[in-house]
Amino acid sequence: MSTWPQPVARLLEILDGLGDHTGELDDVSAWPTKSLRLLDEAGVLGWVIPRIYGGEEFSGSALIEGYLNLARACLPTTFVLTQRNAACQRFALSENEPLKQELLPALTDSDRFATVGISHLTTSRQHLAKPVVAVEIVDGGFRLDGVVPWVTGAAFADWVLLGGTCDDGRQVLVALPMDSEGVSVLAAESLLALDASQTVPIQLEHVFVDQSRLVAGPVEAVMNSGGRGGTGSLGTSALAMGSGAASLDGLVRETQRRPELEKILQPLIAEQDAIVADLLAASGEQVSSTDPVFSNESLRQRSNSFVLRASQAYLAATKGAGFTSTHPASRAVREAMFFLVWSCPQVVVDAQLREFAGVADC
Ligand SMILES: Cc1cc2nc3c(=O)[nH]c(=O)nc-3n(C[C@H](O)[C@H](O)[C@H](O)COP(=O)(O)OP(=O)(O)OC[C@H]3O[C@@H](n4cnc5c(N)ncnc54)[C@H](O)[C@@H]3O)c2cc1C
Repeated sequence: MSTWPQPVARLLEILDGLGDHTGELDDVSAWPTKSLRLLDEAGVLGWVIPRIYGGEEFSGSALIEGYLNLARACLPTTFVLTQRNAACQRFALSENEPLKQELLPALTDSDRFATVGISHLTTSRQHLAKPVVAVEIVDGGFRLDGVVPWVTGAAFADWVLLGGTCDDGRQVLVALPMDSEGVSVLAAESLLALDASQTVPIQLEHVFVDQSRLVAGPVEAVMNSGGRGGTGSLGTSALAMGSGAASLDGLVRETQRRPELEKILQPLIAEQDAIVADLLAASGEQVSSTDPVFSNESLRQRSNSFVLRASQAYLAATKGAGFTSTHPASRAVREAMFFLVWSCPQVVVDAQLREFAGVADC
């Protein structure tokens, strides 16, 4: 029996609607306004917000089940949701109570949007000698300068959970109001996929951020707090598996007319079931995160490998028709590539490169 989790009733009502819009989102000028409204209707936007601030306080396997189902219906919208949720989760972890009271209740619906600009503290620009966002501690707050390389939905955001580094190496996270003086949203580069995430750099020129906007720090390695969240978290694997499931849905449709594809489909379904079962076990905390099978890195590595192969199997089965740019198979292949670069710890990148190189021990 399949281990794929059944969506809860409120989610089930919106999945078809999300799926109907997903093709329109493969466009540089798109932003998932309608889809975010659907998430709002189903109560999804409050999922990670603690109950005392008006949310549902989902965590663990409930959140992973939700992400699996949402990403299967529409990866771009679900990706945007994860960036919003990453900001909300960090706000919720903060010890700054007045800030939490201001931001978290406001983020339970689709009227306000928050996102993150933090990857330059973890996976981006790590080879550069100088941090890309410099923080100076000044009277009453912080002064920020630099370019934040990746901010999903920056132009639509009210606040960005933003990281920066002080001269002494300590780091801070702040809730940057996007209408602050000195903040510029730079032009978007066209992407291989997920253009509707409207991911762009933002420039900071002597931006003053009041002390009251401090989320965490100053401390060394500010991103290291926060449990199993963060870079290469189980949530990122859930999105990869949801995207892979959408490819298998397409392959199932092909197989209905061409039974010879059954022998390709069945092993992929078995692999999907095994990874999803382990992902749910890891997120339910029935197993230890130090057990290598259930570590974030091992699950992300297996999920990456799966989504890449599932999407290519779908494309190969749909032949030249699938290669046309508007066919869901060609979109699935491009979207699968995202997992090679998004929130991908170096150990996962290395394993992926070894798999590509065909060397053992991958
Ligand atoms: C669509 C999309 C949306 C994203 N959204 C967000 C978001 O909302 N918030 C967020 O915080 N992050 C976001 N990210 C960032 C993401 O999580 C990764 O951090 C990012 O993809 C890492 O890529 P990079 O080019 O910045 O890496 P870098 O490591 O900076 O690599 C850039 C270039 O530097 C060179 N280079 C790399 N390593 C070395 C080295 N060791 N020595 C010499 N040269 C080197 C290579 O030429 C490489 O192409 C997003 C990314 C994508 C693609």
